[in-house]
Order: sequence, then C-alpha cells, then structure tokens
Amino acid sequence: MSNDRTPRRGVLLIVASPSGAGKTSLCRRLMADHAGLELSISMTTRGIRPGEVADRDYHFVDDAEFQRLIDADAFLEWADVHGARYGSPRAPIDRALAEGRDVLFDIDWQGARDVARKCPEDAVRVFILPPSLEELRRRLVTRSQDAQAVIERRIANAKGEIEHCGEFDYVFVNDDFDRSYAELAHIYHAERSRRFRNTWVEAYKAALLNEAV
Ligand code: GDP
Ligand code: ADP
Ligand code: 5GP
Repeated sequence: MSNDRTPRRGVLLIVASPSGAGKTSLCRRLMADHAGLELSISMTTRGIRPGEVADRDYHFVDDAEFQRLIDADAFLEWADVHGARYGSPRAPIDRALAEGRDVLFDIDWQGARDVARKCPEDAVRVFILPPSLEELRRRLVTRSQDAQAVIERRIANAKGEIEHCGEFDYVFVNDDFDRSYAELAHIYHAERSRRFRNTWVEAYKAALLNEAV
C-alpha cells in the first residue's frame, strides 16, 4: 500500500480570544508539536515587544506600508485591533491551501469572521475564554510586555471580544494550560481527519479493495 496521503484539503485553524487569554502561548505549542502546520505571520502596525522577533512573530510595518498592502489587495483579511492595524497576508495562505497544507491563525474575532466568510469549508474557528476578567488582568500584568495604559485598553476591549464567542465552532476556557492545550490539539486532529478534507481516501480505498488476500 502507498503511504501517500495526498491530495487533501488543508485546515485553516483560527484561534481568537481577548488579549491575555493565552492564545499565543497555545498556538506556539501547537506549532512546536506539528511540523506540517504553518503559522500565518500577520502584518501589524503596532510596535515590537521585548522578546518578539520580526518576521517570526509579526511582520512589523508602518501605516503607509500597511495602506499600500491594503490597496494592493495583499491581505486575506485585515482589521483595526486595540488601536493598531493587523492583517493576514494572502500569498502564503493561498500557497498552503493549493498544496493541501494547514495554516494556523492567531487573529481577532473580526478576522475570524472574514476568513470564515471567504473560506467557509476550510475555516475552523476556536475561541479561548479566560477563567475570569480578574485572571485576564493578572496575566497581562505578569506578561509585562505592555504599558499600563495598553493593558487597560485591552481589558476594556475584552468584553466586546467575548461577546462574539457565539460565532465560533469551538469554545473552551484556558484555565489549566496543559488541559487547554490538549483541547486545542484534539480539535485540530479531529478536523484534520474529517472525510471531506482527505480526498486521497477514494484512491486508497480502491487500492485496498484491489489487494489480493
Ligand atoms: P494579544 O492579543 O495579546 O496576542 O496581542 P497581539 O498584539 O498579538 O494581537 C492584537 C489583536 O490583533 C488580537 O486580537 C489578535 O488576534 C489580532 N490579530 C493578530 N493578527 C491578526 C490578523 O492577521 N488579522 C486580524 N484581523 N487580527 C489579528
Ligand atoms: P494572548 O496571546 O491571548 O494575548 P498569551 O499567550 O500572551 O495571551 O498569554 C498571556 C499570559 O498568560 C502569558 O504570560 C502566558 O504565559 C500566560 N498564560 C497563558 N495561559 C495560561 C494559563 N493556562 N495559566 C496561567 N497563565 C497562562
Ligand atoms: P498583540 O498586539 O497582542 O500581538 O495582538 C492583539 C490582537 O490582534 C490579538 O487578538 C491578535 O490575535 C490579533 N491579531 C494579530 N494579528 C492579526 C491579524 O493579522 N488579523 C487580525 N484580524 N487580528 C490579528
């Protein structure tokens, strides 16, 4: 039997949450454990944080360059979030989908909605809830990467984001990190196994049925 599991349709796995709920930590671990998964590296106009690496965490650009990219239709989606602009570059996503690879997005609810509209079959939306707003604040403070005013703005925006969790396919609370990571990985694995994504199955089935026993 052949080991070829192509062609297949890739998953666009979208993870959203209020800032500080833990989506970046969960996404990083999912990337580390799945060599075949590609991260959509967003463009952003916000400043780089301590510990972030340009072109690994984000492509950092100024407002003029971001506008130029919007005008060139270079984004699958883009949105204003917490006073900066963020967008998902279209080209790497198109390439991955054409090759049947999976893409992970760490984006806000507006971007999640847009990608789901544009790619209804491929998009899978996961929303991560914080245990409480008090814990959200504690995590943003202990992450200690944002100025106090930025943290306050993110907490003020959290309720507006949580209001949209009903639009998502999957929702869970990130209380215990390992348990939450297992939840995310299970969602990804189950979605990867969905029959319609695995278009190689027909040829595989035919080969199995033709096997002499
Ligand atoms: P975090 O919420 O603490 O991870 O802060 P970030 O500055 O990394 O992200 C700010 C917001 O922008 C979050 O809600 C992200 O989900 C969202 N975001 C990041 N990348 C994208 C993107 O490509 N498109 C859209 N629409 N939103 C994004
Ligand atoms: P987001 O990307 O949603 O803004 P991060 O992944 O940056 O969130 O997480 C915010 C902070 O909370 C980080 O300091 C991270 O280490 C911490 N954190 C993430 N998940 C948990 C968890 N389950 N329990 C406690 N702290 C967490
Ligand atoms: P941060 O500034 O903390 O890195 O990100 C703030 C928010 O922007 C997060 O919710 C993050 O997921 C979101 N975000 C990051 N990149 C994108 C993007 O390309 N598109 C959208 N819509 N949101 C993004």
